[in-house]
Amino acid sequence: MSIPDPMQPLFIRMHADDNVAIVVNKGGLASGARFPSGLTLREKVPEGHKVALVDIAAGMPVRRYNVVIGLALSDLPAGSWVHERLLKMPEARKLADLPIATENRAETQPLNGYAFEGYRNADGSVGTRNLLAITTTVQCVAGVVDFAVHRIKSELLPLYPHVDDVVGLEHSYGCGVAIDAPDAVIPIRALRNISLNPNFGGEVMVVSLGCEKLQPDRLLPQGSIPIVDRRASAIDQKPIEHESLDVVCLQDESHVGFMSMIDSIMRQAKVHLERLNLRRREACPAADLVVGVQCGGSDAFSGVTANPAVGFATDLLVRAGATVMFSETTEVRDAIDQLTARAANPEVAQELIREMEWYDNYLSKGLVDRSANTTPGNKKGGLSNIVEKAMGSIVKSGSRPIAGVLAPGEKLRQKGLIFAATPASDFICGTLQLAAGMNVHIFTTGRGTPYGLAPVPVIKVATRNDLAERWHDLMDVNAGRIASGEASIEEVGWELFHLMLEVASGKKTWAEHWKLHNALVLFNPAPIT
Ligand code: CA
Repeated sequence: MSIPDPMQPLFIRMHADDNVAIVVNKGGLASGARFPSGLTLREKVPEGHKVALVDIAAGMPVRRYNVVIGLALSDLPAGSWVHERLLKMPEARKLADLPIATENRAETQPLNGYAFEGYRNADGSVGTRNLLAITTTVQCVAGVVDFAVHRIKSELLPLYPHVDDVVGLEHSYGCGVAIDAPDAVIPIRALRNISLNPNFGGEVMVVSLGCEKLQPDRLLPQGSIPIVDRRASAIDQKPIEHESLDVVCLQDESHVGFMSMIDSIMRQAKVHLERLNLRRREACPAADLVVGVQCGGSDAFSGVTANPAVGFATDLLVRAGATVMFSETTEVRDAIDQLTARAANPEVAQELIREMEWYDNYLSKGLVDRSANTTPGNKKGGLSNIVEKAMGSIVKSGSRPIAGVLAPGEKLRQKGLIFAATPASDFICGTLQLAAGMNVHIFTTGRGTPYGLAPVPVIKVATRNDLAERWHDLMDVNAGRIASGEASIEEVGWELFHLMLEVASGKKTWAEHWKLHNALVLFNPAPIT
């Protein structure tokens, strides 16, 4: 493929019926710049921002992705810079009379023959890392757990070379909360399901304070953990009773002084480290991947380069029998008609509508709507409003039928393409995808974020060459080559697919290399007391 002249004025139009396109050139283009089509800029247009391709009269629709992203507030002659202050945002689509499971979809060929080296768990799930996780019931214990984790890392971990790391599952929930409010189910089940993430090998140990509202048996009620008796032989694994739930309670009277608490945690950690250290990687089909995709710090290139490449990889994964979750409810709300049309059956379409309704109501309690999503950085990067952002975001979901829907904090029950309803907030979305059972995380960014999570590898995909070059030791994949004409969407999609298999097999991402770990942030829509 020939590389276009970087000085040549260039725009990208997403659909033949679009009346705007985005300027690709680094640093934007000056007034008077002339495109190969003959279009001449009437004013300076920044990189990633929109230019009117034809005269757009006041009140007429502005189309990108073949979707109306706004109505012109004044006449916009061809060659004008089309930015947020010149657009009236359309109303959100009503959640009635939607197309239900209407999309005609041709069967695609299964994709066979791709595998990775993973840690198979007793419940059939597969880990991509071998981690000891320490679950906490309440924020009160976070400092103690943090102290203990440092000591475990320095004193115990070197004795167990097959264990990758130790992770304290610290959070701000657990007490001072209306724990019987209906929506409290969301943070509680999320924390429970995070403890059961495949990367923790089914080894659950809990540190509790003692007097907190979220008592250990409420967090992990009997039967919720498939505890395996590893005293039996590997072949003869069978579930055992709940008394084996392993809790260190700091207020226990046997604890005299701080160090006795640390000793208790270290002693229990050792038991789990012994067992985790026996685990080895084995060949697993690509179907065992559980990939969570999301974006953060988006710009106008997100929907042109990185997200379409992720969408291509999503289709490959689904063809390989894997599970892919897409999320971020406010960033798909404006495409609800596309989603209900792609639902595998009418039940899935109804579940999609249920999650959108729940979120509309949640936002309306705060007297806002989905448009509260966009950030100053999004707008600086060329995204005028949430409609434009959503059309670029949803591309990550690829083109396959939506097989199922998860409410926030729920655990996966099936394979295929799943809508896991979460806020778009990066760390809350990531936390809820962890709860669902994610073992690889894909994160696209245009503005740039150093995002990372301790429990799973995060592969970061840059939307622009400039970001990929400046953040060369933070970005794992450069999808900016799509905008510059150096690579196709398909090529970057395949590259990402192969990288996922390598990372799932143990290759470190940049976020892992630098140990960049954002906090777990539980989604708590219920009241605080
Ligand atoms: Ca996000």
